[in-house]
Amino acid sequence: MDIVSVSGYALSSPIDPVQERPFFGGVRRLHKRDVVLVVVETSDGRRGVSTAGASSSAMREYFEGDSHGTFADVVETTVADALEGRSIEEITDAHELLRATDLPSRLRTEAISAIDVALYDLRGKEVGAPIYELLATAWDTEPTTELPLYASAGMYMEPEGYVEQATVLEELGFFGYKYRPGIGPDADRRTVELLATAVDDIELMLDVHTWWKLRDSYGRDTVRALVEHAADRGVYWIEEPVEPDDHEGYVELADTGAPLAGGESEKSPSDLITLGRTGVDFLQGDVRHHEGFTGCQAAIEFCVDRNIEFVPHNFGTWLGLQANAHLVAAAPEAQLLEYPVFEDDPALAETETDPGMYPFELAFDIIEGQPVIENGRMTVPDAPGLGVDVDLSVLESYPFIDGPWTEFHY
Ligand SMILES: [Mg+2]
Repeated sequence: MDIVSVSGYALSSPIDPVQERPFFGGVRRLHKRDVVLVVVETSDGRRGVSTAGASSSAMREYFEGDSHGTFADVVETTVADALEGRSIEEITDAHELLRATDLPSRLRTEAISAIDVALYDLRGKEVGAPIYELLATAWDTEPTTELPLYASAGMYMEPEGYVEQATVLEELGFFGYKYRPGIGPDADRRTVELLATAVDDIELMLDVHTWWKLRDSYGRDTVRALVEHAADRGVYWIEEPVEPDDHEGYVELADTGAPLAGGESEKSPSDLITLGRTGVDFLQGDVRHHEGFTGCQAAIEFCVDRNIEFVPHNFGTWLGLQANAHLVAAAPEAQLLEYPVFEDDPALAETETDPGMYPFELAFDIIEGQPVIENGRMTVPDAPGLGVDVDLSVLESYPFIDGPWTEFHY
């Protein structure tokens, strides 16, 4: 592949009016969702695409002071300089070129992630095969292209609100319902109890990252008691129960026998594997954060035979959804995919109550067409590469808006 151009576009999908979600001891404000679209073009006129995420702390490391730079600027400068005019034989050649840049390590990882996915998209188009086929050949697996989805929704609401969402998502046939508690220990307990009684055919997952984001966090004993309580009620997993770096905390909680999940916040593919050694039952790598398809491979192989299930973290657009879907379709012993539910999702059947978290229209508009979802299962597209086309009109219709996408106020 002869790379002629690498472009990055920062886009914002406004949440208007701004949403306020009260949680235990504070309010979370949601202003918008940001997406960085990365486009790589080759000399034969093909285009490979991906979406990138860069955490705000990683960006602060790079742009000092009041600069409002985005990851798109990193792509347009350092990443483009490293790759444009280069001929890439193996996709890992591009990893090496990016490793040689002076980017801080976390941004380098994000850059490698975005480029890896875009180059896989290109390679698939070059040989006329969907990415899952390329990966399945390398792994010697039989691809699974009908993937069960779990719905990721529920952000700080009254216990009854979670129950309403879970009921709707159960009707839609989703494998699971993941929600974000953090409304106080008693109310969090009540939520689990109400949910466990209200639904039969949908698994329950708790994404409890808020517990450690609380300024006056629940404290270790309370967290342990809540984890045990949720496990007693049969929940499928409890995600990020302690701060990402607190691997000792994971080890202690794993001791309770509760099913634990984590991984999205790990800073590199090797950190992901380190977390896998703490006793978690579900490891959540993400092609957008862990060096793409190439980087997630080691974590997937680590999980095989260890009784750990690899279930990718996936919380962005339909483009990122398809990228992680190809990974799951090919990976040995992985099958479940996270499906974030946003308002007015055109791929879901209409229901009386909208189970979406908040509006994120760019998540849908970024690709042409829509994913095929029936009864809670998605068919992975079999067209070459990622199998979906980007709708470049989003460059015009979703201009970048300065400022953080969300804030916690205490
Ligand atoms: Mg999460």
